[in-house]
Amino acid sequence: MTRIAVNGAAGRMGQTVIETAADRDDLEVVVGFDVEAGEVDGVPVVAEDVAGALAEHGVDVVVDFSIPESTLPLAEACVEAGVGLVVGTTGFSDDGLADLDVVSESVPLLKATNFSRGIQVLQRTVREAVRALDDYDLELMESHHNGKVDAPSGTAKTLLEVVQEERDVEPVYGREGHAPREGDEIGVFARRAGDIRGEHELILAGNDEVLSLSHHAEDRAVFAAGALDAAAWLSGREAGRYEFGAVVDA
Ligand code: NAD
Repeated sequence: MTRIAVNGAAGRMGQTVIETAADRDDLEVVVGFDVEAGEVDGVPVVAEDVAGALAEHGVDVVVDFSIPESTLPLAEACVEAGVGLVVGTTGFSDDGLADLDVVSESVPLLKATNFSRGIQVLQRTVREAVRALDDYDLELMESHHNGKVDAPSGTAKTLLEVVQEERDVEPVYGREGHAPREGDEIGVFARRAGDIRGEHELILAGNDEVLSLSHHAEDRAVFAAGALDAAAWLSGREAGRYEFGAVVDA
């Protein structure tokens, strides 16, 4: 039984992780962390001394869905307590990402911008499509709920990285003023409305056809389930940086 802590426990994802874990018998959420102490679905939420709480509750892995400013001190507490870390938070600066790399020298760390299995498959499909249709125009769109703090989404950035590994395209964000396409570019668009869980679409357009590759998350539970699978998989592993693709393929 993997003992899990959730950082950002009172947030949209944190609450969903706690609810989703309640239906599983391979793991248990034993404590949560957030800016205010309290309780979520019977799980105690504490607001200070994270390293102490990790030791006190015998935590194996922390699942983090918060903000980058919270993830980095949390990661230091994980190093202090010798506890693995699953990071779902997005929006890190390059320095923040480098700090997480340092953390992974001491504890097992798995970070993914998207914990849905469908997005993992989409990444592979995007790679194949961009490789095969190497002269088609590319445009990337994403839509999320109106409370999302980063744009474009971490998933859109990951999809952009996949595209750029295959083709030397320059991202153009928002494409203001109906500018015509210039050179080999990819438009990147972010929409924020209502409670949209997460939509991503890449179109590849030739002169006589359009290939559209898209994914819709219908419930946050899909991300929670993937993050919990990652936590169970990560428990007991050696220090190092791991990818969600390995969990999906396991
Ligand atoms: P949210 O705003 O609903 O929740 C964030 C929570 O973090 C809040 O409860 C907030 O109080 C808490 N928090 C802030 N500072 C903290 C601190 N210092 N210590 C502890 N807790 C702190 O946001 P959300 O919709 O749950 O999303 C959280 C993150 O997860 C975002 O970066 C989002 O992009 C990302 N996300 C990732 C995936 C994925 O599959 N990887 C899926 C959905 C969301």
